Amino acid sequence: MPDADFNNGPAGRGAAEADVVVIGAGLSGLVTATELAAAGKRVIVLDQEPQPSLGGQAWWSFGGLFLVDSPEQRRLGVRDSAELAFADWLGSAQFAAGADRGVGPDRYGYDWAKGFVEFAAGEMRPWLRSKGVSWFPLVQWAERGGYPAGTGIVDAPGASAPGGSAPGGVVGDQAAEGRGTAPGQIAHGNSVPRFHVTWGTGPGILAPFVAAAREAHRAGRLEIRFRHRVVEVLTSGGAVTGVRAQVLADDAAPGRAPFAGRGAPSSREVTGEVELRAQAVVVASGGIGANHAVARARWPESAGRLPERMLSGVPDSTDGLMIGIARDAGGAVVHEDRMWHYPEGIANHSPVWTDHGIRILPGPSSLWLDADGGRLPAPLYPGFDALGALRHITSRGDDHSWFVLNKTIMEKEFALSGSEQNPDLTGRSVPQLLDRVRGRAVPVRTFAEQSPEFVWGSTAAELAAGMNALTSATPGSRGHIDAEELDRLIAARDAQVLSGLGKDPQVVATRAARAFWVDRRIRVAPARALTDPADGPMLAVRLSVLTRKTLGGLWCDAAGRVLDPAGEVVEGLWAAGEAAGFGGGGVHGHRALEGTFLGGCLFTGRTTGRAIAGSL
Ligand SMILES: Cc1cc2nc3c(=O)[nH]c(=O)nc-3n(C[C@H](O)[C@H](O)[C@H](O)COP(=O)(O)OP(=O)(O)OC[C@H]3O[C@@H](n4cnc5c(N)ncnc54)[C@H](O)[C@@H]3O)c2cc1C
Repeated sequence: MPDADFNNGPAGRGAAEADVVVIGAGLSGLVTATELAAAGKRVIVLDQEPQPSLGGQAWWSFGGLFLVDSPEQRRLGVRDSAELAFADWLGSAQFAAGADRGVGPDRYGYDWAKGFVEFAAGEMRPWLRSKGVSWFPLVQWAERGGYPAGTGIVDAPGASAPGGSAPGGVVGDQAAEGRGTAPGQIAHGNSVPRFHVTWGTGPGILAPFVAAAREAHRAGRLEIRFRHRVVEVLTSGGAVTGVRAQVLADDAAPGRAPFAGRGAPSSREVTGEVELRAQAVVVASGGIGANHAVARARWPESAGRLPERMLSGVPDSTDGLMIGIARDAGGAVVHEDRMWHYPEGIANHSPVWTDHGIRILPGPSSLWLDADGGRLPAPLYPGFDALGALRHITSRGDDHSWFVLNKTIMEKEFALSGSEQNPDLTGRSVPQLLDRVRGRAVPVRTFAEQSPEFVWGSTAAELAAGMNALTSATPGSRGHIDAEELDRLIAARDAQVLSGLGKDPQVVATRAARAFWVDRRIRVAPARALTDPADGPMLAVRLSVLTRKTLGGLWCDAAGRVLDPAGEVVEGLWAAGEAAGFGGGGVHGHRALEGTFLGGCLFTGRTTGRAIAGSL
């Protein structure tokens, strides 16, 4: 996508002031900036990366959007509503008590959640449609949950303390994390399929906003300065007045075909420094996903420890440093221990960024085993509760887990997250889509053939030998897979399936999923024995923890104004997207329903852009 040189237009190269400075040219920054430009404001966007990385994470994303009661759902016979979606949201979020009454650190997260679900059930679809965005008609069912339905507000003493500040200016609620995940309280999951994959995936969502930015640039209202890394938010008399940025060496990170340097790590060599003045500064700098040390340090103690060996599901630019810089300017950072990483990562055979991993989006049939070969407890089946599974793994101190399945299940149920892993949907190619339906999707086959983490075998003994060889485990050592025990597990599961009904909750849930036409057609394999030779061979896939999203962030009010630890507005400072916890410092609470991150960037960018424009 050859982009115009956003840096060299009528807004004036080198201008030292604008109405608004936006930090970050990802989706949230672009939406905010183009809303402002449309309202006639002069905007300068700064991004530390070179121009090929325009759009940040969203370009790499799968483009899945959480939409509620859409025509796509209705055509598939799915009966959804804003009320049902909000009940699901609350059951997953486990907001602290008082959030719904306007008190406590979750009060703004709750408000943003309510607004977002209404947006997802109302304006989002027609707004995007008017910009040329459309969706794959087969709506997917992410985060199926598997817990009893409930409302989810945690009513525990102390949970409503209004934003008490932990050391370092952090409003924490580690205690609530523990409470929120206690058995019997979670009501996590989507009651119905809501994950709408955009035609064109992530690039398809970005396209209208890149086009609007180009248009605003031509009109002299918007400029993007790449290789500008903000290192300080400037203040005067308690109000934000601008930013100081380092100018980084020109580094197009060229040559990494086919992405022309997009997403590749870039140099941090500093060649200069600039100060820019503005009436408003917007932090749209993304989360902490590439900063493993920070993620490890903030992972809640109640869930053990994130492993030393992890994969990154985000480019290196997702370093989280800007959130600390905004804190230095007075902003409060809330819920830093809330993160949304995945347990189902596999190392990319063609890495673009450091430790580049890909998430398997699994269907429900695979057996999920911990590092020692024990089955994960109900309802931690593939695709049901990503965070619950991750916490189970980190609580055990494991650095990996296993899917055990067979070739037919892999072909039917494995999808991979990311625009480049879905050339059919990204390229809107019907022939490639038909290959996917027939179980011949090239990206999955490439992993199956090339990845050493895909261990094949015709018997449990062969599988166990391959699994142990991969992890160098020996009998009696941690992480050793016992072949006889594996054989027993597979036989017990197969007996349940072959009974035609069964009491095993995973077998029951998998059978139930096939009642949904899309699952039956393209996502969930028929109930057959893992050992059925017609579906073989069997395989075990080693899964690593893959870092991705930050659920906490800069504490903001309902307009996107950043607040200080006392809940007072930091004049002139605003935040959007992942840096703002996708709204209010944590619109998701503890868990997400998926497709809500891109949507959260759209909603916060739009709301905040309009609010700033109205306030200047
Ligand atoms: C592979 C993948 C698949 C995904 N799939 C989905 C999906 O299907 N559905 C969904 O809802 N979400 C998905 N997501 C998540 C979603 O894409 C992100 O949460 C979202 O795009 C974040 O956008 P953002 O604008 O907040 O931040 P970013 O995209 O991270 O952009 C932030 C920008 O700020 C810049 N920056 C950071 N610090 C500074 C600084 N100090 N100075 C200057 N610039 C700075 C960075 O260089 C970056 O360009 C996916 C993400 C990935 C990586």
